[in-house]
Amino acid sequence: MERKILHVDQNCFFASVEMKNHPELRGVPMAVGGDQDQRHGIILAKNPLAGACGIKTAETIWQAKQKCPDLVVVPGHYDQYTYYSRKAFEMFCQYTDRVESFGLDECWLDVTDICGSASLPVLADEIRSRIKKELGLTCSVGASFNKSFAKLGSDYKKPDATTLILQDNFKNIVWPLPVGDLLYAGRSTQKRLSRINIHTIGQLAALPHEYIRSYLGKNGEGLWICANGLDASPVGLCSDQREIKSVGNSTTTARDMTCNEDVWKTIVALSDQVATRLRKYKLVCNTVQIHVRDTELHTYERQQHLLAPTDAAGEISRVAMDLFQRSYDWTKSVRSFGVRAAQVNPAEARRQISLFDSSYQTDEKKAVDTVVDALRIRFGKDIVRKGIQLAGGDELLPQGQMGWNAGGFASLKTGGREE
Ligand SMILES: [Mg+2]
Repeated sequence: MERKILHVDQNCFFASVEMKNHPELRGVPMAVGGDQDQRHGIILAKNPLAGACGIKTAETIWQAKQKCPDLVVVPGHYDQYTYYSRKAFEMFCQYTDRVESFGLDECWLDVTDICGSASLPVLADEIRSRIKKELGLTCSVGASFNKSFAKLGSDYKKPDATTLILQDNFKNIVWPLPVGDLLYAGRSTQKRLSRINIHTIGQLAALPHEYIRSYLGKNGEGLWICANGLDASPVGLCSDQREIKSVGNSTTTARDMTCNEDVWKTIVALSDQVATRLRKYKLVCNTVQIHVRDTELHTYERQQHLLAPTDAAGEISRVAMDLFQRSYDWTKSVRSFGVRAAQVNPAEARRQISLFDSSYQTDEKKAVDTVVDALRIRFGKDIVRKGIQLAGGDELLPQGQMGWNAGGFASLKTGGREE
């Protein structure tokens, strides 16, 4: 039976979430920037007014401001993006158990079992209007008989539109499009295809199957299959995936870090945020990763697998510091630092703890984390700060980015290195 597949793509996702939370940003050219102090920041997302000024995703904030001096650049709020992403995912799971996310702002839905062909555009429009009503965001939807054409459809008309790509119209809609519009048609593949004068999806589709396989290998063959409307890849199951693969925070500090103590303060602040988010999503991590960039912009990453999964800030910061001390020689100062909790699982699975692990948090430490979370939910995240942050950790952190600088008073000191 022919499948019915939708691809939902939230339009200008990060920028739209910012505009929803701050409606005053709707009327000005606005972009989400990757770095608060704008020394090394790039544009992560932009609103339509900024797009009209010629601003492109991934260019530097500096370049963007040359084009549009009035551009308002706001820092990203990943908790918010994850929140809306999860809300949309949950909505899609009400329709079918086959929902597969692709990044934070895109999902495929296999709705074969719940609609006939006549109702496919009706369902697509219903989802668009629910996203608008329930989340206050806009999306475009592609509806087709396979995943790759559904994805092309959501790109075809936007924002806030539905595009149907069916057996009887796909040659008219899809084949004139550039080959690069196909998912996984990378730049080098496009170059190789243009060398043999293949520029559109239709031209690719018309090549003999054997020829494209020998010319481009397996990846090229996959593209050829998609171009011909023969993509049979299934939409994953809701239950197979967690939209959250890892939880991380990073910062470029207000001044360069010059000693272990500076780095430790930053690690404590970052780990505290990471752990709070893990607990909010009821996740535990099995791996801690650090990301270090020095003043020469040399960057490296290190990771450590944990003996037992955790959602405790103390454990995450301890492992992060250990990784740092084992890997850094201090020939240069440190400019930016990231802490990431990876290989995350639902917290219910945490009880498979290692018998050999003495670092597993005691119930007492767990209780402190729970109290801290509850206080923050009621009174805001500034209500509880770590002792080390009170002792001067904050001066390193850029204003606003970490959220610890606005007001705030401490009511509970949870200590420095040991929570
Ligand atoms: Mg999008």
